[in-house]
Amino acid sequence: MSAPKTQKSEQEWREELTREQYEVLRRKGTERPFTGEYVSVKDDGIYRCAACQAELFSSETKFDSGTGWPSFTEPAVAEHIELKTDRSLFMKRTEVLCANCGGHLGHVFDDGPGPGSQRYCINSVSLDLDRRSP
Ligand code: FE
Repeated sequence: MSAPKTQKSEQEWREELTREQYEVLRRKGTERPFTGEYVSVKDDGIYRCAACQAELFSSETKFDSGTGWPSFTEPAVAEHIELKTDRSLFMKRTEVLCANCGGHLGHVFDDGPGPGSQRYCINSVSLDLDRRSP
């Protein structure tokens, strides 16, 4: 994994992020399903990293997966996403991180509806929707 471009100490992240954001982005936690603010949001815009504002996902690729987490078929900019094998919780999964700050976003699975069959399952708390004006 290449070094994130935005590097801050854990103390700095703790001060800048809310407790929920810190728990997910820096400690790889998972928000409870159906509780995040973007689960059923269909507004147009760009989903940015809640920690560093990097452009991560477009509302155009968001779909209702029924899982309780915002789900996307692909990243907005592939280079803004870092993938990493995650063997925690006795499972082999692919972790999705922000390539700019190293923040934990969620996981990606290969049962998505799009041509690439990918389902990016992302925590709402890791995202910040930049709504496009109508
Ligand atoms: Fe980031």
